[in-house]
Amino acid sequence: MQYAENILETIGNTPLVKLNKLTKDLPCLVLAKYETFNPGNSVKDRMAVKMIEDAEAEGLLKPGGTIIEGTSGNTGMGLALVAIVKGYKCIFVLSDKQSKEKMDILRAVGAEVIVCPTDVEPTDPRSYYSVSKRLGEETPNSWYVNQYDNLSNTKAHYESTGPEIWNQTDGKITHFVVGVGTGGTISGVGKYLKEQNPDIKIWGIDTYGSVFKKYHETGIFDENEIYPYVTEGIGEDILPKNVNFDIIDGFTKVTDKDAAVYTQLLAKEEGMFLGNSAGAAVKGLLQLKEHFTKDDVVVVLFHDHGSRYVGKMFNDDWMKKMGYID
Ligand code: PMP
Repeated sequence: MQYAENILETIGNTPLVKLNKLTKDLPCLVLAKYETFNPGNSVKDRMAVKMIEDAEAEGLLKPGGTIIEGTSGNTGMGLALVAIVKGYKCIFVLSDKQSKEKMDILRAVGAEVIVCPTDVEPTDPRSYYSVSKRLGEETPNSWYVNQYDNLSNTKAHYESTGPEIWNQTDGKITHFVVGVGTGGTISGVGKYLKEQNPDIKIWGIDTYGSVFKKYHETGIFDENEIYPYVTEGIGEDILPKNVNFDIIDGFTKVTDKDAAVYTQLLAKEEGMFLGNSAGAAVKGLLQLKEHFTKDDVVVVLFHDHGSRYVGKMFNDDWMKKMGYID
């Protein structure tokens, strides 16, 4: 008989899938690392397990404890799955721009969900950074995860996602393209790949309203770059410790409209029903066209599943209201 001992054993070893139609004008092979095959439907299951195991090993998370995190949904889902198997409670703090589906899904897996306003400074006591930090201090026997600065996040991708991509491409990968939020994925995968072959180029996808691209290019944290945006999962108004700018070769920014339109196109043209950051990643990859040549093998990572966006990017009324389609 072949079976996993529990749901956590099914995390990782996701497939690589060739993109065919959307990338037909590129000279190279483009392969998607398809992370929705994880049990929580996103790449975040990988770092959730690693962060919890490291916190247990360090004595930060004790039996029966409460896991507290500010999460846009996917990390919460991963943490909730691990918490169920290992017997912890979860409290998650979300900003009000996150889709209702994401909140309902977290409640479905037993988490308590607290919603905070988006349009306040990170230092404002109402912000989701501040609220999650305060709950971490006030709740007995609790552990505040802090996926932004918790380096177990990057390590998870260094130990699993990076080696998988290297092995699945027989070491032929030449470029890695990925959306950047906490930075865990790009930094862990990027470090592993560059250690195998320093010529591999690592490209970050950023969004308008986020500080990453400008900071990478100038070393300046420019507050003028910060404004509200619609794209979910990528871009930040802070510099998380998990973003290792040294291993990143360049960023490209994708508009909210393009990210939403390409999220729909991935579903309709490739049969890939994925989240909003996958749309941003594939459009960013097309923007990077001039960097790719005939023999290149480009891997783009798709973080999460389309089901979390049915009320937004997959709802034509919402798309029209936003002015993204006619
Ligand atoms: N896409 C989605 C849907 C996400 O939830 C996240 C995590 N915020 C990212 C992309 C970015 O990944 P990372 O945090 O590893 O940079």
